Amino acid sequence: MSGTPKTALTIAGSDSGGGAGIQADLRTFFACGVHGMTAITAVTVQNSLGVQGFTEIPPDVVTAQIRAVAEDMGVDAAKTGMLATAQIIEAVAETLDEVHIGRSFDVPFVVDPVAASMTGDPLLRDEALEAIRTQLFPRATLVTPNLDEVRLLTGVEVTDRESQRRAADALLALGPQWALVKGGHLYTDPECVDLLSDGVQHIELPGPRYDTKHTHGGGDTLASAITASLAQDLGVPDAVAEGKRFIERSVADAYPLGAGVGPVSPFW
Ligand code: PLP
Repeated sequence: MSGTPKTALTIAGSDSGGGAGIQADLRTFFACGVHGMTAITAVTVQNSLGVQGFTEIPPDVVTAQIRAVAEDMGVDAAKTGMLATAQIIEAVAETLDEVHIGRSFDVPFVVDPVAASMTGDPLLRDEALEAIRTQLFPRATLVTPNLDEVRLLTGVEVTDRESQRRAADALLALGPQWALVKGGHLYTDPECVDLLSDGVQHIELPGPRYDTKHTHGGGDTLASAITASLAQDLGVPDAVAEGKRFIERSVADAYPLGAGVGPVSPFW
């Protein structure tokens, strides 16, 4: 490539297995043609069988990473993944205001409200959900919860298209500009239909459901691909459509690795 690429920042946790978290975010940023930067919030110990534990990074070290890259290199779009604790979330929110990242500064900010791994292991301390609702959602350009996260954050149980729309409304009431309610975990639906809404537009994004259990890192990969498109000046509906194309190919080519759940694929 010639010239300076756009930049994207991920504020998230490390996955020692390389399938999700910071590792998924960085390779997605690379594949989508933006320069990736990181503020690491936690170090997880995990493999294909699950998360054995994690240690969080002190909040002042998380925010120092954000400040260091924002003040020198500039951030065209940012996303959050695993944030681990309420203290980290509060410190991140304050720092984003300081460096002018978020919907009110016209620098796109995607919140993927990671609560647990698909193996069911918690990645967020219980008291931190309220901090996600009150500190991050009002600053977000877009939030991208899966159905478990929707239930934890809003109490809405999504079972069909109608409840998916109610979930979008409940998420938007918490303050983000757009909500993407992902339908991938609605296993009764033969398709994966995601719903994107800003309260005015309700855009259904249908896609195929692939017959694979190897989807580790899928949520992170989708949110990162959307963030990369936002960094390259696409509007939210186009960025989400691009992200959906990216994750479909990544899931179609996902591979087994280890005895448990393998990662979505960056090789295509
Ligand atoms: N580990 C880290 C650090 C993550 O950020 C995530 C997801 O966001 C996971 C694990 C879980 O990924 P999955 O639910 O795809 O297994």
